[in-house]
Amino acid sequence: MAGRSPNPVSQTLSGEDNSRRAVERRLPGRARPAHDVLREYNEFNAKRRQRIPSILWIFVAPDPDGCYRWRVQLDCDCVTEVLTGGDDPPPSDHHWLDPVHQQRLPTGQLSCKHDDSPPAPYRQITERSDRREVSFPADPIEPPDWTDADTWAVVRRDKPHSKAFWTVALACGHVTEVPTDLTWKPTDGPRRVGPERQRKMTTEFEAFWATQPDGQSKQEQEHTRRMLADGWPMPRPEQLCYRCPDARLIVAYQRVGWLVPRKTLSTPPKQPSRAALQRRLERTQAEADRLRQQLAQLDTDKHANAAG
Ligand SMILES: [Zn+2]
Ligand SMILES: [Zn+2]
Repeated sequence: MAGRSPNPVSQTLSGEDNSRRAVERRLPGRARPAHDVLREYNEFNAKRRQRIPSILWIFVAPDPDGCYRWRVQLDCDCVTEVLTGGDDPPPSDHHWLDPVHQQRLPTGQLSCKHDDSPPAPYRQITERSDRREVSFPADPIEPPDWTDADTWAVVRRDKPHSKAFWTVALACGHVTEVPTDLTWKPTDGPRRVGPERQRKMTTEFEAFWATQPDGQSKQEQEHTRRMLADGWPMPRPEQLCYRCPDARLIVAYQRVGWLVPRKTLSTPPKQPSRAALQRRLERTQAEADRLRQQLAQLDTDKHANAAG
């Protein structure tokens, strides 16, 4: 989606705040042709159903006739279309998936990439939840593009190794993963360097910034200063948030309608009146009497024949 204005990082609001803030109104432009949207949904659904057991389709890959179309306007001014399961609640009340990072965004946010989006900001880690271990092979002998041979000789890992990856929530409401040593636990808290090492590191960084003013961006320099002042805590208490630059709030929405147009429902049969039910009962009783008489007549004839 193309940008129209300078793009600050979306202001982060809680879901309640955003659902109150988003308004239903007519949006500029027009909805996409219905048959295009339906075809794309069916193609997308056929693909995802290949890897989802059919018993779960109703929850995660539903038929198109339960999908409702909306046009939404984001706080970057872009207008796009979304589908929800059912026509309520509105899209500003949903947790949408960030398609790049495959993580749920806070309520009412959608990802919208702009060429002039700001760089990822640092955010405080507010919570750690899931942990998984990832094994890595030994690093290649040749240095990668981002470093020289001397540095690589120092940092290169010559044996396979493993890291723990923690799912963390950031102060902005976004979720990401950060690596730690396998042995580290949240109850350990961050490890810090001693006062002497802290002073030495600070002196070295001050010298680096003095001789190479462009050696670090302003944001990186501020992060480094916070780390130095705090005794270089590891794992770091703050993390770059790569969701923030593209996360936009839904500020308005417009109903488009069901993905599969609903047929006019036939009027349900009317409840019969008491008098009508009484008449039906009398007719049924009369019919039952007639059948009983017929049966009795058959029995009488049978006995008469047997006797004869
Ligand atoms: Zn946008
Ligand atoms: Zn964020």
